[in-house]
Amino acid sequence: MNIYGYTFAHLKQFLVENGEKPAKALFIARGLYKQKVTSFNDMKDVKNSIKNCMEKDFEMVLPEIIEQVESKDSSKFLFALSDGNIVEAVLMNQKYGNSLCISTQVGCNMGCTFCQSGRQKKIRDLQTWEMSAQLIVIEQRLCIKISNVVLMGIGEPFDNYSNVIDFISILNHPHMLNIGARHISASTCGIVPRIYDYMNHTNAGLLAISLHAPNNSLRDKLMPVNRSYPLEKVMEAIDCYIASTNKKVMLEYVMLKDINDSTAQAQELAKLIGNRNCHVNLIPYNQTQNLGFSKSSFEQIMAFYDILKKNKIKVTMRREIGASVNAACGQLRADYTS
Ligand code: SAH
Repeated sequence: MNIYGYTFAHLKQFLVENGEKPAKALFIARGLYKQKVTSFNDMKDVKNSIKNCMEKDFEMVLPEIIEQVESKDSSKFLFALSDGNIVEAVLMNQKYGNSLCISTQVGCNMGCTFCQSGRQKKIRDLQTWEMSAQLIVIEQRLCIKISNVVLMGIGEPFDNYSNVIDFISILNHPHMLNIGARHISASTCGIVPRIYDYMNHTNAGLLAISLHAPNNSLRDKLMPVNRSYPLEKVMEAIDCYIASTNKKVMLEYVMLKDINDSTAQAQELAKLIGNRNCHVNLIPYNQTQNLGFSKSSFEQIMAFYDILKKNKIKVTMRREIGASVNAACGQLRADYTS
């Protein structure tokens, strides 16, 4: 077990099992995340007996970055995992700070037809520490503090739910990675039961839903998950999430030329959303591989945007961060492995 996958609660449990006071977890967490030790021995205020137990039971290795590609406003990083798999993270320099897009699985089983990750099939879930490590290694390498984390890299976070929840707990804990819940977002293609679990989780972050279509017939074609959890169920879960957390929900909508970008579809989308506390993010499609989709024109995206605005829907157009480094979901690793 890698120590960077241990939540604060796990550390407490480990201490109790070894006859120690759970409160001492604070010193272990400080050693790992503040002092940033590279060996258990260097931890301050931790008893030797406990250090010896940790040395025996835990690993403290972090994956290496095998490639870093820079562009104007983003950098992509490829990590080599110990089993030979490769995972990617993308760092975006935003107005409000450094935002890191983290992968949650190697590949993805959701099969969205326009998405490169969907073509790669899931090889395995990432372990909790493999998600923490993406942030820790990048912070160390660049000597920066990451202020926002989005779980929008490769993989479906809610298909690796318990590891993702542990990861969010490590991110959010004040003595661990210390990122506020309002600065953490998980994006799902719409695995409805997990949306309910997420909202009931005390330190859950924000929620983004990849919507991409205003009706079931189109969404069924673009996103196979819709056949199990159709739009009515997704919208019902969104309503519950908003009612129980009082937080708005981001709706991701990738603009696919002549597929989901007509003004009639914008009207339909506005009607679907109604007066819910949602914010639509229009994403220009990043076309690098030939999956049979192309990017909507700027004019078409603006026409779509205007209709949403006229209907009083909160909407933004995402800057094409990462496009020049092939950073859209899955494309990075695809370039490397194919
Ligand atoms: N599985 C999760 C998170 C990963 S994908 C989800 O579906 O939300 C992050 C976002 O990028 C999703 O909204 C996804 O649909 C979108 N996406 C996938 N391929 C893309 C591409 N080529 N260009 C732009 N966005 C893309």
